Amino acid sequence: MSGSDVLFAPVNGADHRNVNGVLLDVVRAGKGRIKRTIYPAGFRWVTGMKDVAHTDLCMHAHIGFIVCGHVQVRFPDGCTMDFTAPSAVVIEPGHVGWVVGDEAAVLIEVDFEGDTAQQFGLPETHRHD
Ligand SMILES: [Zn+2]
Repeated sequence: MSGSDVLFAPVNGADHRNVNGVLLDVVRAGKGRIKRTIYPAGFRWVTGMKDVAHTDLCMHAHIGFIVCGHVQVRFPDGCTMDFTAPSAVVIEPGHVGWVVGDEAAVLIEVDFEGDTAQQFGLPETHRHD
């Protein structure tokens, strides 16, 4: 395997899941997890994940690195963030997101499930102060 193929291949030793076409590979790491997520082209959180999350916004913090593709997120106050690979990614809880363009986005994250923002010392929500 070479080039960008390895970014899309099943992760060795990971727990694989397909959630409405979003491919998740998760490996446990102590209290946390190392996670590779492939968001397909055309993905929008509102149509692809909202029903699974049972919340109006994605309430996860995202800490990691986008290795392929282009993602935008928006907070309720109208602020947006734009991540094009290769970029570090830091997104506070309480947002919606979507894939831009016709290429899948591949995000590699470290998380602590529902406790990620607190563990990293991030605000629990997006704010200006
Ligand atoms: Zn803002």
